[in-house]
Amino acid sequence: MSAADKALFEREERFVMQTYPRKPVIFERGEGALLFDESGREYIDLLAGISVASVGHSNPQVVAAISEQAGRLMHVSNLFYTRPMVDLAEKLSNSSLGGRVFFCNSGAEANECAIKIARKHAHERGAGEPEIVSFESDFHGRTYGALSATPGLAKDPKLGPMLPGFRSVPFDDATALREATGGNTAAILIEPIQGEAGVFAVSDETLKVAREICDETGALLIFDEIQTGMGRTGSLWAYEQGPVRPDVITSAKALGGGTAIGACITNRATAPVLGVGDHGSTFAAGPVAASAALAVLDQIDRPETLRRVRQLGAILTEKLEKLDGVVEVRGRGLMLGVALAEGIDSAALNADLLERGLVCNAPRPDSLRLLPPFVLTDEQADRAVAIIESALSQAVAG
Ligand code: PLP
Repeated sequence: MSAADKALFEREERFVMQTYPRKPVIFERGEGALLFDESGREYIDLLAGISVASVGHSNPQVVAAISEQAGRLMHVSNLFYTRPMVDLAEKLSNSSLGGRVFFCNSGAEANECAIKIARKHAHERGAGEPEIVSFESDFHGRTYGALSATPGLAKDPKLGPMLPGFRSVPFDDATALREATGGNTAAILIEPIQGEAGVFAVSDETLKVAREICDETGALLIFDEIQTGMGRTGSLWAYEQGPVRPDVITSAKALGGGTAIGACITNRATAPVLGVGDHGSTFAAGPVAASAALAVLDQIDRPETLRRVRQLGAILTEKLEKLDGVVEVRGRGLMLGVALAEGIDSAALNADLLERGLVCNAPRPDSLRLLPPFVLTDEQADRAVAIIESALSQAVAG
């Protein structure tokens, strides 16, 4: 580590709240599926900023949209109309549930909006004490509403009290879901494929039961598509490959191509639930972020892009499954969880991979998670697999 790197790490520790265990690398530049540190060293990025840079780093179309818009108008607030915001809402609605969109600036905020819709919707149908039901290992974000729906983190007593009106059931347990729901259920809020937990898909059977419960009780079925959406699983939204249609979806991450934007998208029936004064956000879908998102959608919502995501996902899965030290590859499209053989510590492996010039992450001790940019080339994919293979062979031997 150079003296300049060490000085930056020390300043980070002194001045930045210590909520992240950062890896010891200072990235300076990105291009497609590659990242470069300050010394000019190249890394293959299989994480995409946690599923954000799906169209690649510094994607030329996104950069042009941002630059052009920033030179014209950056912000006026939501007290006025701007064209990119309305264009984006129309595209998101038409590409999914057909209702209305509330814009915000992050995934957690998109879920806050969904929670607010669910509670108001429940009150309107006379539910006394609306309850939101999620899976125990779900991740929905760090603001208090989203956190209350993230049981693994919500149980930390130092962060309490959580919001009332949230409960959880074991992952993918349809029977428990039935038992936990009823007249007061405002929503079932779930990730169709869990990301932070390590890439686990909810079974079709459970999704069908969730839909049935919502139809019977009047509760909303809300899919958190913040990680699974925007093409990550090989369709624009993950629900398109499943057996049921949710009432509301939330999006963020890849939507802005690196700018901060989130969206809560409803179906037609749920579109009028929130009215004037019910919700708001100063920055949401400002012209720059909305223009960036339009440029992202333009590139992702294409059959050839989605086909490539499925193809590349299949190639990576097949190659990774053959490696010594890999027991299973979970997931769909380019959202992959790589389960490691017993005795291989994912955090140590991940640190070694970074040293070898590969970026991914280790969401649980027995798995790596890969969320590569969709522009990863075949050659880069081969090189990435070769790096994982050599790191694994050392881990298996060690
Ligand atoms: N929901 C899911 C499924 C996520 O993966 C994340 C982030 O990892 C969030 C919500 C929270 O998004 P943000 O960090 O933008 O608030």
